[in-house]
Amino acid sequence: MTDGASFPTAGDAESIAREYWGLQCQAEPLAGEVDRNFLLVTNAGDRWVLKISRENTDRVDLDYQIEALRFLEDSPVAHFVQRVLPTADGHFLLPYDRGEGGRCWVRILSFLSGSPLVNIRERPPALLEEIGRALALLDLALRDFDHPGAHRDHPWNLERTHDLARYTEQITEPARRELVERHLENFRHDVVPRFEDLERSVIHNDANDHNLLVGSDADGEPVLAGLIDFGDSRQTITIAELAITAAYLMLDQEYPLTTAALVTTGYASVRQLSTAEQRLLFDLIIARLCASVLMSVRGLHLEPENEYLQISAQPVWRMLERMSLIDPDEATRTFEDACATSSAPVRSADEIVAIRRSHFGYNLSLSYSEPLKIVRGEGQYLFDDDGRRYLDLVNNVCHVGHCHPHVVAAAQAQMAELNTNTRYLHDNLAEYSLRLTGTLPEGLEVCFFTNSGTEANDLALRLARTHTGSKEIIVLDHAYHGHSPSLVEISPYKCEGPGGEGLAEHAHKVPMPDPYRGPHRGPDAGVGYADEVRTAIAEIESTGRNLGAFMAESLIGCGGQVIPAPGFLSAAADAAREVGGVYIADEVQVGFGRVGSHMWAFESQDVVPDIVTLGKPIGNGHPMAAVVTTAEIAASFDTGMEYFNTFGGNPVSCAVGLAVLDVIEMQGLQQHALEVGNRMIDGLHELQTRHELIGDVRGLGLFIGIELVRDREALKPAGREASRVIDKMKARGFLLSTDGPLHNVLKIKPPMVLTEQDVDETLEALDEVLGAFPDN
Ligand code: PMP
Repeated sequence: MTDGASFPTAGDAESIAREYWGLQCQAEPLAGEVDRNFLLVTNAGDRWVLKISRENTDRVDLDYQIEALRFLEDSPVAHFVQRVLPTADGHFLLPYDRGEGGRCWVRILSFLSGSPLVNIRERPPALLEEIGRALALLDLALRDFDHPGAHRDHPWNLERTHDLARYTEQITEPARRELVERHLENFRHDVVPRFEDLERSVIHNDANDHNLLVGSDADGEPVLAGLIDFGDSRQTITIAELAITAAYLMLDQEYPLTTAALVTTGYASVRQLSTAEQRLLFDLIIARLCASVLMSVRGLHLEPENEYLQISAQPVWRMLERMSLIDPDEATRTFEDACATSSAPVRSADEIVAIRRSHFGYNLSLSYSEPLKIVRGEGQYLFDDDGRRYLDLVNNVCHVGHCHPHVVAAAQAQMAELNTNTRYLHDNLAEYSLRLTGTLPEGLEVCFFTNSGTEANDLALRLARTHTGSKEIIVLDHAYHGHSPSLVEISPYKCEGPGGEGLAEHAHKVPMPDPYRGPHRGPDAGVGYADEVRTAIAEIESTGRNLGAFMAESLIGCGGQVIPAPGFLSAAADAAREVGGVYIADEVQVGFGRVGSHMWAFESQDVVPDIVTLGKPIGNGHPMAAVVTTAEIAASFDTGMEYFNTFGGNPVSCAVGLAVLDVIEMQGLQQHALEVGNRMIDGLHELQTRHELIGDVRGLGLFIGIELVRDREALKPAGREASRVIDKMKARGFLLSTDGPLHNVLKIKPPMVLTEQDVDETLEALDEVLGAFPDN
């Protein structure tokens, strides 16, 4: 019929189609890995694919593929799998003799338009979820399908991945060989025994990015157009479908675990995964990646010059190596979350950034030049959506550790029982008021409960004003006390910054009592700074007004982790009281044992405030805050106007507050903060001897600042370097931030459960990062 080399030609395909299928058409060759394929375009414009098998292909295999496709013809996935066209006399497979003794088989399938996913760079989450859903629909549709061809041995059988161990010796790089051997060992011992109770069914078994076809919808968004090539389809554990698809879709993706989670979300929304399946997913993905590299080294062994095999294996190797950085437990949790029916769809970090830009208040910054999507917290660690673990060195809110089980349980239990308000009697409120005032110096005995530090400080201003009859207030330069109008106008950090309208007339600032950079240094600095307060008082009085309050953070946060010059707070408080003013201590950032030596940071300066405000750590992340004051001031505030706060002091918040106090006591966290804090501070001082960039190390307990300077004499601030350091530390898995008026102070104020090992690892990483300057 034709001669050797180019057989069969397009002309042959046309004549076969015409003779047996009755199709008048034009044929053109298509690429194909196994079969010889032709695109047929009929005179009516219909498109088909004519497939001529290799010689001596086993008929059972082809029969199986045809029967599977026919089984799907009326299923919900009919539109994205190929239809098989029968010959004029009703056959689906036609024997075809090449004339050299070898027998081929011909079949015609419908043509699915669309581009292989491999060509689509932008893969929006909606597409990934759709792929997951489609595969799950396919698996459900094939649940009752069976055929002798479904049970034949196959090198790509995921269940038998460990059988490929014989090819590991062909991996030439020792590290890679070891990696694969380790995974196969794990697979044999820990994964295979867990297959027993899993659902089994016929699956496609090879939804890779060459077999998934993508088109676009009316808005030009990519949508799934089809799934081709049932050549590797088999009966196996059903979950292999998702694992295989996820493994291929993860390749070369910036956030592979997110990709896999999105496919999983789609899949699980159609076919629920059992717990066992969810827990196997990560290992099965690794198994498929191992199989892929082993099949390519085996191929390369047989065909060393095959460049395609060499190139196509690289992304799989990269992925396999990247998988080693992912914590398996965290990956499993990610998959469990992806399977959980949630009201919020899983979105990529980029998508969330876009939503924030259009639907979220614009004047809100994000941490880090590449923002993080944190999905879970535990103790002193945070985990991103890709399963990466970070040591959290900045979140002082989750004081006793992220999601502390005792706190979570207390909140859950109380939420399930009752949540009302403070106009009813409740044990939690009574107990919390007693427990909280029990930690404070005598005299501070009356509590008001609020929902945020801002509300607490706002109320503190009202208390002070009512008690003293004066609005005049002295604050520290660069101070921040809250975001309400009454606080913005007395917070230089805000009102003197971008968008600010300057200090209110009644607000008077004095220099931060900064012993490193401020105007007063040395042993008498505290007195020097307190004299500034006296000067401010004199100025207020010179206008015929009198002082209402002196307000200060006990240790200064936004101002740059400054520990006030010794003696300052008590001398300033004395000065204020001498003229009838009150002293408000803002402990929102620094209270609850963080300083280690004491429960409250003002105690480190041997002073007792008239009003103290508490926030952030008080509820370990639950929105609550408090003001505690003296009986005398509380009495002045009892003017007849009720102070009622709908949420403040509710039974759930009080349960949380009690649990936080329990943990601080039970775990000895105040003493712990002293010990690990000192270890950190000592280590940082040691780093300071070797890294010029560290101008100052200061801190109490786990409230620590590292001020970076370009010149230790001139104290030239190294702000740019500070942000480089936090980005580089983040890349190493350590979360830090910067602050201070010159943006050159690294802040350390971690959950109080930080361990000695965490400290040592932080110091080691900082040493490396700082060591790379000035070339950094
Ligand atoms: N005071 C200080 C010292 C703070 O640092 C903050 C918050 N950064 C506040 C008050 C305000 O607290 P919130 O954000 O809970 O309103």
